[in-house]
Parts: sequence; structure tokens; C-alpha cells
Amino acid sequence: MIYLDNAASAPVLPEALEAAMPFLTECCGNPSSIHAQGRRAALAIIEARERCARAIGAKPDEIYFTSGGTESDNMALRAAALSGRRAGRNRIVTTAIEHPAVLNTCKALEAEGFEVKYIGADSDGFIDMAQARELIDENTAAASVMAANNEVGTIQPIKEIAELCRKCGAVFHTDAVQAAGHIPLDVEDIGCDMLSVSAHKFGGIRGAGFLYCRRDVPLEPLIFGGGQESGMRSGTENTAAIAAMGKALEISCGNIARDTEYVRGLRDRLTRALLEIPGSRLNGSASGRLAGNVNVSFAGVEGESLVLGLDLRGVCASSGSACASGEEEPSHVLRAMGVPGEMLKGSLRLTVSARNTAEEIDAAAQAVRETVETLRELRGVKWLT
Ligand code: PLP
Repeated sequence: MIYLDNAASAPVLPEALEAAMPFLTECCGNPSSIHAQGRRAALAIIEARERCARAIGAKPDEIYFTSGGTESDNMALRAAALSGRRAGRNRIVTTAIEHPAVLNTCKALEAEGFEVKYIGADSDGFIDMAQARELIDENTAAASVMAANNEVGTIQPIKEIAELCRKCGAVFHTDAVQAAGHIPLDVEDIGCDMLSVSAHKFGGIRGAGFLYCRRDVPLEPLIFGGGQESGMRSGTENTAAIAAMGKALEISCGNIARDTEYVRGLRDRLTRALLEIPGSRLNGSASGRLAGNVNVSFAGVEGESLVLGLDLRGVCASSGSACASGEEEPSHVLRAMGVPGEMLKGSLRLTVSARNTAEEIDAAAQAVRETVETLRELRGVKWLT
């Protein structure tokens, strides 16, 4: 099996699993309990909080553990919107290419009376800064712009958005779910107020994540109960997954320089091979994207059929993003980028990790070629080589 769906969920790092194991086996303590087992669990959470904070240049008390990226995005946007409304600000600015965790939270806030504005993207998948400058103003409660896109991997100019927000007094949130552990992130350098992270994208365990929230930025809970996470996220902590996340983030951030070079080499090899297939096109920028992301469309082919055909050949891939799969509609990201009609439905996302090898890349490229040819034959589409 060749796993090229690392942006959907990456393999758990052995060190992360090792950090989690005691809390799945011998230590069953609830971190709120004051006995030895409870204290051991609480200590693991303190350590994980320090590791997560260090990895993004934050202070430990600015890290709030959650169940993952979706919850962090919801928590951030709702808190920023509500505190903005109290200050007479009613606008939320986001982009047309965000993950549904942000887009659907914005929709829910719109139904509660907020005005939501969407920044568009260009054909390379970069957001339109002129529109951002127009839309972020003194009436803006919050702006949310992702650090890196989950479908086409484009890395967005979040430092510039943070600066626009700072000038207008708006809260700036960035969904860094695809970026954390893959590109360097420093909240001071970026100048963001809130930042979402999800453990399963960098070798942690699914079901854990965190929200960074700057000390002086008002935050409020989505979930009420026993007051864990400084009252901001009640519920008994997932100690094993939190411990694993701290370790995984520390390790992946430490390996960014080395892994990026290796992964980029594999990505470029794969991209070159796929673009040799007639009727193909690269979606998103050739250079300003995450090192592991390849997103290619093939004319005359449905993305979902391609993914199923690849699955039969032992290759795990995605059409669009995994979170959007099962959707009948073509990707909202590719649509926002103005990808032409016949290429909209035939998109394939392959995401490479440091665990992949050049042999796997070559075999996967061959599998894509064969699958595309078969699917085109079935539909009677002819592509001259
Ligand atoms: N934001 C982005 C950019 C993502 O890619 C994802 C998951 O694919 C999420 C948010 C949701 O994260 P989670 O799966 O941890 O809820």
C-alpha cells in the first residue's frame, strides 16, 4: 500500500505513540484527580502544553486543548465574533477557500446576524490582498485566513493580514491545521491573535488539537462543564492524545528543514510525472505551496473514480480534500480559483510525507497514468500522446 493522503491524516509518529502509551495502559488517572495517577496525567498535560507553546512561540497559558481543528476554528470564530459585537463590530471577513470548519461556522454566525465577507483567490490559489484591504475595516470583528490551503497547499500571506487587522483593531484568526509541523510558525512573528492546530496532520493522534489565543484577546467557551482548560473547554482531557500531540509537534517542527527538502524533492518528481499525462493540469502555485502537496486535474475523468481506481491499485489518495469527499459538488477551492469546467471534477490530491520513498512515488505515478487511461477508455475519451 502506498499512502499519499498525508494531508487528510498523517501516520502517527512512533515517539508520539510512545508518549501516549502510558495513558492508554498503566496510568488511567483523570488529570483532575489529586492522587498519584491523576497527578501523572496532569503532569503529562502540562508538558504537552509547554511543548505546543514552544513550537509556535507562544506561552503555555495561551494554549487551549480541544478535540481538533474543527473545534478550534469554531471556538475562535465564535468568541471573536461575539466579543466584536459587544464592541459594535458586526463584520467577519474570511476567504472563499477556507476549510468547511471555518466556512460553516461563518454561515452559522451569518444566521445570527453577522455580515460575512469572502476574500477571493487568484488562479494560483493565493488570496486577493486588494480585496482584503477593502474588506477589513473598523467594523470588522474578526478575520480568518488559513495559513496553508488543505486542497492546493498554497501558503497565504497571513502576516500581511495580521497587520491589516491590527491597524483596524479586528481579531485575526488563522487556521494553521495544514501548516503546523510543516512550515515554521511563530505567533509573535505572524502577529495573529488566534491560531488553530490539529494533531493528526503532523503525526499525533486524531481527536486532539489546540487553539492558541493571545493573552489579551477575549475567549469564551463553546462547551461548558467542569471548567478544564481554564474554564474555556470543559470535559475530561484526552491525556494520551494530548501527550502524543505535544511530542509529535515538537518532533515535526524540529525536522521541518530536513523533511521539507526531502518531501519537496518527491513532490516535484511526482508532479513532473503526472504532468506528462496528456490532458493534465497542476492546480495551485508551482512554488508557493506546502512541500508535500500535489493537486492535479485530468480532463475527462471524475476525481472520485480516480481515487477508487487508485485504491484498487493500492494507492491512497484524495479527490479535493478528504473532508469534502462524498460531496457531489466540485471543490469550492478550485471553483474560487477559476479552474476551467472540465478540469473541476477531475482533481486528484496526493500529499507526500517524509515516510514516502522515490520508488513509491514512481509506482504511484504509474498507477495514476494507468487509472486515467482506463477511465478515459471507459468513457470513450481519446487523448493523443
Ligand atoms: N482546517 C483545515 C485546513 C483542515 O485541513 C482540516 C482537516 O482536514 C480541518 C480544519 C479540520 O481539522 P480536524 O479534522 O482536526 O477537525
